[in-house]
Amino acid sequence: VSDRVETPCLRLDLDRLEVNLDEMAERSRAAGVALRPHVKTHKMAALGQWQMERGAVGLTTAKLSEAEALARHGLNEMFVCYPLVGDARLHRLRRLARAIHVMTIVDSEVVAAGLARAVRAEARPLDVLIKLDAGSHRVGVDPERARELAELVARMPELRLRGVCIHEGSTYGEPEPELRRAIARKEAERLVATARGLRSDGHEIEIVSAGSTPGVEGVLPVDGVTEIRPGNYVFNDLNQVALGVVGLERCALSVFTTVVSRPASGRAIVDAGAKALTLDRGAHGTRLLSGFGAVVGRPDVTVARLSEEHGWLELGSAGNLAVGEMLEIVPNHACAVVNNFDRALLTRDGSVVDVWPVDARGCMT
Ligand code: PLP
Repeated sequence: VSDRVETPCLRLDLDRLEVNLDEMAERSRAAGVALRPHVKTHKMAALGQWQMERGAVGLTTAKLSEAEALARHGLNEMFVCYPLVGDARLHRLRRLARAIHVMTIVDSEVVAAGLARAVRAEARPLDVLIKLDAGSHRVGVDPERARELAELVARMPELRLRGVCIHEGSTYGEPEPELRRAIARKEAERLVATARGLRSDGHEIEIVSAGSTPGVEGVLPVDGVTEIRPGNYVFNDLNQVALGVVGLERCALSVFTTVVSRPASGRAIVDAGAKALTLDRGAHGTRLLSGFGAVVGRPDVTVARLSEEHGWLELGSAGNLAVGEMLEIVPNHACAVVNNFDRALLTRDGSVVDVWPVDARGCMT
């Protein structure tokens, strides 16, 4: 690879990627649960297509612009799992909903009213799910508010209530696998109980959707969950490794970088800084990561500090690195790193076999 690439650059290991995709597709199939992966991790139409070909029922996004970007490549089943607010955005939602099937969430009266207004003159109602707070205290409501919102949505002919959903992000804060499973199970059970309550109020609740990579294990066995929306599983990263969700050998995404300076005996400087690797130390309260990535095959080397364009590597006492040497770094948080690159090199057996654009890179709105 080294004579073909300019660094820093993003690398995807195809064998690992396929294992990750196949395994999650198989786990959801075996559990009888649909898979609607979150594309925030890869932002690539080609990879979204691969997920659909492996049986995904649709794709999840955070941004409307991510859904728009992937729709331009023929992906036509999107769940924008984020409160859509503001007239300009709602105007775009209306346009997108004419071209593909889009669902989104409601977690307040204001959001519901905006969505209803946006699609008022349209032929089809807009499908919505009520978002519940699953312990992250981010967006989402508690089950009691969910009942009120369901009543409100039911009175809006422009909206069709399809289900309920959570993002069990608090699983990222629990490194102990048994306790993490218990957190995910409890949140999924609360989700299912809320769905039952809404059904007994007369609402048709088809979709009961939970989503996170560390939560999958605890969520899948819960009766009544109809779908999962993991995102990070396609690549995995040091966060997942630190949590014990997977081993380093399942990390499909890395950054190639070159040693550009050797300012002192124990130190090397590489051309991957914060602009490539990000300063992310782990999501949702995880305090497990100390550096800014793992150098593949070099456990004696630590990615100790980053400035925008430079990475500080600390070498163990026996370690050596030469200017010009290329290294591979598995990042802390794959999703954030992907957003820094226009394209990714796909490699198999150490050779570059394809280049994929990061189609939804930088989608902010
Ligand atoms: N669903 C929602 C709403 C999310 O915010 C996320 C991640 O942030 C996911 C699903 C996927 O979670 P993960 O990246 O842990 O797979």
